[in-house]
Amino acid sequence: MNKLKGIGVSPGITIGPAYLVPKLHQYVSDHQIPPEEIASEIERLEKALAETEDDLEKIRTQTARNSGTIEANIFNVHLLLLHDRELKKEIVRQIKDGVNAAWAVQTVVNRHLERLGKVNDAYLNERRYDLEDVGKRLLRNLLGIKGHFADLKERVVLVAHNLTPSETASLNRKLVSAFATDVGGPTSHTAIMARALEIPAVVGLKEITGVARPGETVIVDGQQGVVILDPDESVLKEYTQRQTGLRKSHRALSPLKDVIACTRDKHRVIIGANIELPAEVSSVMAHGADEIGLFRTEFLYLNREDLPSEEEQFRVYRHVVEKVKPCSVTIRTLDLGGDKFASALNMPEELNPFLGWRAIRFCLSQPDIFKEQLRAILRASAFGPVRIMYPLISDVEEIKTARIIMEEAMAELKQRNKKFLPSIPIGAMIEVPSAALTAGAISRYVDFFSIGTNDLIQYSMAVDRTNVRTAHLYSPTHPAILKLISEVVGAGRKTGIPVGLCGEMAADPALAFLLIGIGVNELSMAPLAIPEVKQLTLLITLAEAEECARKTMNMDSASEINFMLKKKYAEIMKRGKK
Ligand code: PEP
Ligand code: MG
Repeated sequence: MNKLKGIGVSPGITIGPAYLVPKLHQYVSDHQIPPEEIASEIERLEKALAETEDDLEKIRTQTARNSGTIEANIFNVHLLLLHDRELKKEIVRQIKDGVNAAWAVQTVVNRHLERLGKVNDAYLNERRYDLEDVGKRLLRNLLGIKGHFADLKERVVLVAHNLTPSETASLNRKLVSAFATDVGGPTSHTAIMARALEIPAVVGLKEITGVARPGETVIVDGQQGVVILDPDESVLKEYTQRQTGLRKSHRALSPLKDVIACTRDKHRVIIGANIELPAEVSSVMAHGADEIGLFRTEFLYLNREDLPSEEEQFRVYRHVVEKVKPCSVTIRTLDLGGDKFASALNMPEELNPFLGWRAIRFCLSQPDIFKEQLRAILRASAFGPVRIMYPLISDVEEIKTARIIMEEAMAELKQRNKKFLPSIPIGAMIEVPSAALTAGAISRYVDFFSIGTNDLIQYSMAVDRTNVRTAHLYSPTHPAILKLISEVVGAGRKTGIPVGLCGEMAADPALAFLLIGIGVNELSMAPLAIPEVKQLTLLITLAEAEECARKTMNMDSASEINFMLKKKYAEIMKRGKK
């Protein structure tokens, strides 16, 4: 038995046989070819190039149909790379020197990958993964290894170093029950896809491809970020029971999708869904969200060479708005920087990207790009209820400046006779301590607050949210965090604006209990987490949640608070069983 710890990026428990995604280089050898075979080897290359082009065209159409044009865009980049004349020339030159085609492709692609890896440029660095993906596909065609995971016959756990976008897009969902990968973080493409497909996933396992054996039993616990290879009988029994329990509770909770989240003493809690891709909208409805509380829009700007136009963005926003109408959609403006960089924007390398040119700071200094997005969101507001919110506000002046730019965007739309809702609600994300502590001032310029605890915790505790080594210090229940949240709730109440929370902590029912007690009105979370949080609200009273929140205000440490919450939550859950 071997237990590995990684980052759980999509919840749920799966037990199944491991399928090790083959490393293509195992099939490639450096045998030389005689001069008389050079012409036919070049012909083989041409044929493989044509097949790869065909594959990419097909997968682009299929992705556009299933997930939308934005997700399909990445395959345009792949086609561009495939048509790169220099790359082909280099490969042909090698073949003419007597190298077989597969070895030539592998050598040339690897050389370029190495070069791109060393370049100090986020855009070129990102292209590395695309080139790797195209190179693999071309090799597969050359070697006659058809289709990704084509030999899958039973449901498996995919174990891979990394899964490329085209691999995840082309896998058969019925045959893949979980992902476990060496690399990746919570915002990696694999993580986003796993959540959208609703299958458990653990990434950042570092060495799983080195230690897993094909066919051996694997447990993937996407909640705890744990993968167990070849579990012994007692562990297997424990996880089988937990899996059955989870399935049962999911089944039992599914009728809650039509139930309103309301405490026993009639306090209504608004339950929102967080989405990163338009394709997740069906999951929002299936899990019974009251609204989309956070629609992240970075996906529009990633994996492409140009910027999305107003028209393109408008179509995406309108699609989501019309799909969930009459529920409202809170669209967050661009939050690039930190750990997300767009190719087309050429953002410079920074020593401290999370403290740098990120989110609203970037947008305010690039008003044309910002306004393009604002106009698109405004136009979508003519088709259903929409709210706009700004990420990473750290000072009231930023809100004032954003308001001026918003007015300009509105004036431009008026001039073009485009419809929009002039009174569109505007919100500030509170995710920096300076904003939490001056929430009173900020509240006078906005219509709502949404607390982004993922960032608020990292900035308050000086803990990089993406660093595995300091993950144990990242603590949602630290008294400082709870005080900051109460401060924001107090400011919102005083001015009379709603205060929501859309960080990951809203998805944990025990923490949701505490947040309701502190006075947060809206909790927004990954769609999968909704049923459990809804269930919690039905079992509690607001009065007991408030009492619990009051008690935490006199506690000294996160561990003390966690201990009390765990006990209380177990007691609440017992009520559900009666
Ligand atoms: C947050 O910071 O809590 C949040 C919801 O935003 P993101 O995770 O996209 O930074
Ligand atoms: Mg944030």
